[in-house]
Amino acid sequence: MSLPVTFVQVAEVARITPRTARITFQAEELDASVGASPDQQVKLCFPRPGQDAPVLPGRTDDAMGWYQAYLAIPQAERPWMRSFTLRRRRPGSRRLEIDFVLHGDTGPASAWAERARPGDRLGMVGPSAMYASPLSITSAAAVADWVLMVGDESALPAICTLLEALPEGTDIVVFAEVEDRAEEQPLPGPAGTAVRWLHRDGAAPGRRLVEAVAAADLPAGTPFAWLAGEASAVRTLRRHLVEERGVPKASVEFSGYWRHRFTQDDAPTAEDLADAREKSARAEAG
Ligand SMILES: Cc1cc2nc3c(=O)[nH]c(=O)nc-3n(C[C@H](O)[C@H](O)[C@H](O)COP(=O)(O)OP(=O)(O)OC[C@H]3O[C@@H](n4cnc5c(N)ncnc54)[C@H](O)[C@@H]3O)c2cc1C
Repeated sequence: MSLPVTFVQVAEVARITPRTARITFQAEELDASVGASPDQQVKLCFPRPGQDAPVLPGRTDDAMGWYQAYLAIPQAERPWMRSFTLRRRRPGSRRLEIDFVLHGDTGPASAWAERARPGDRLGMVGPSAMYASPLSITSAAAVADWVLMVGDESALPAICTLLEALPEGTDIVVFAEVEDRAEEQPLPGPAGTAVRWLHRDGAAPGRRLVEAVAAADLPAGTPFAWLAGEASAVRTLRRHLVEERGVPKASVEFSGYWRHRFTQDDAPTAEDLADAREKSARAEAG
């Protein structure tokens, strides 16, 4: 499977909320398919201290071969790799917008985004069918009675692209957890989309989402549910929908975007591995 790899250079930096940086990149190379569908995921490669740009293996038609070459780079030079969502491609250009949650200096991605300046360079791997969801939200929504989207601020870029893709007339309920009121941002979407903002206000990540969804008087019928954000909260939400609300497993698309107190480089837990196995079984089943 082909794996697009390119360098991207910061063109503009804006704060869309106090804790969200929208960074516009100029990509060296970009296929026409980039930005053409919602929820496109990329891996960004961040330089190590002292490097102007990350060290990257070149583009290849062999994704596994590329990853092996990446792992063969000595650890002190190997870029940190983190997952992000393409928020938007500017029409007719190679400009891409990505929204970064600024959660502090604890992670290389957040620390980089806090200080990003025009001219800074990252590597970008993907988007690729390898990371894409096998489910198309528009076809899943077309057969569901309504659509439920639940996520924290790291999921807002994906939620926005999905809302933009859904047709008028779709009945949508969104639960979005952010730190406080200043972190709320305007969401696009069909008229009538019901958005419930939840403020963390010191609670553990995802807790407000779990409480609010469990207590909600949700619309009747079977939803298509899309869940993303802190991994253990996503797991709890999925269990609640399937076990307590009777939503079919196949109608719940879920993704742990980050793990409280773990970095993306830390080894997966048994629960992470179980989620990954289920997702790949689903992808194989089509
Ligand atoms: C498919 C996918 C799409 C994603 N899209 C986006 C996106 O568009 N924008 C975005 O900002 N993030 C997105 N994420 C989440 C992002 O990849 C993680 O937050 C990642 O851990 C950030 O890397 P880091 O180097 O900043 O922190 P890491 O080095 O991974 O972690 C360092 C510490 O920070 C904590 N941490 C990590 N992320 C967060 C967070 N969001 N809030 C609070 N604490 C955190 C960890 O628990 C850890 O203690 C996406 C993830 C996936 C899997």
